[in-house]
Amino acid sequence: MRDIRVGEGGNAAMPLRIFEGKAEVEAVRRLTPEILEADLRLLEPAEFPFEAGQWVSVPFGPKTVRAYSVASTPVSRRRITLCADVTPGGAGSRWFQALTPGQVVEFKGPTGGFVVNRADPRRPLFVAEEIGIVPIRSILWDLYQTGFGRSATLIYWCRDPSWLAYDAEFRLLSRRYPPFEYVPVVRDPVGGWQGEKGEAPDLVERTVPSVQGLIAYVSGGGEMIKKVREVLMAKGMERKAVKWEKFW
Ligand SMILES: Cc1cc2nc3c(=O)[nH]c(=O)nc-3n(C[C@H](O)[C@H](O)[C@H](O)COP(=O)(O)OP(=O)(O)OC[C@H]3O[C@@H](n4cnc5c(N)ncnc54)[C@H](O)[C@@H]3O)c2cc1C
Repeated sequence: MRDIRVGEGGNAAMPLRIFEGKAEVEAVRRLTPEILEADLRLLEPAEFPFEAGQWVSVPFGPKTVRAYSVASTPVSRRRITLCADVTPGGAGSRWFQALTPGQVVEFKGPTGGFVVNRADPRRPLFVAEEIGIVPIRSILWDLYQTGFGRSATLIYWCRDPSWLAYDAEFRLLSRRYPPFEYVPVVRDPVGGWQGEKGEAPDLVERTVPSVQGLIAYVSGGGEMIKKVREVLMAKGMERKAVKWEKFW
């Protein structure tokens, strides 16, 4: 079992207070057969300040914790939404699947430096592998709903279209905020899929002509993060211009 390191990711940890919090489960939704969302109403503290892209840790024993990125945006401080892929089937997945409205849960946070600095003039490229989309979902809604206005691209990879849990939302976001470009990509184009096919690093290779003025935020499994970073660095990107959040 891997330990969760504070500040894991490509940036320094944010200087926000870290709470030992309690929240009540308000609702649980199934987004796909294996992906669940849970809304938590804060009890202690009553308000939970965080940066879009940060995560909370849930304790399961003295040495066992699991991290969950906050899927909702910092505009909502009294309620946060978490989202999990429960396929791995370990302690975290079992905990998430058993969440029931009215239940009180404990967590610690916010933690993590996978956040966007709005003062950075570079154009963001987001790359998510499956459930790695969660912090990016929070970041994108937060940016555009609070007047970011500049262009950004999301490449959202899943094994097949049924795993694109937030597909409809990102299509809506790109219609509402045209500077936002949404590129879903799947390995298996089942069900009449008309979009991009392949693996995330290959799509980055094909569709990113220049890395000048670009900053990348990559989230998901370690293998994909490494490959995307290699592709971008081969195009001339500086290593530190690739921020990452490694879920597994
Ligand atoms: C900073 C951070 C944020 C995270 N945010 C989220 C989140 O928002 N939603 C979420 O579902 N998970 C998230 N995770 C992963 C989460 O903490 C757990 O690892 C995951 O829920 C699996 O826990 P488990 O106890 O069920 O399985 P474990 O027993 O921990 O894992 C079993 C095996 O599956 C691998 N694994 C874990 N997750 C995946 C996956 N999605 N796909 C493929 N293999 C995997 C593990 O590396 C391990 O080898 C995050 C992890 C980190 C470090």
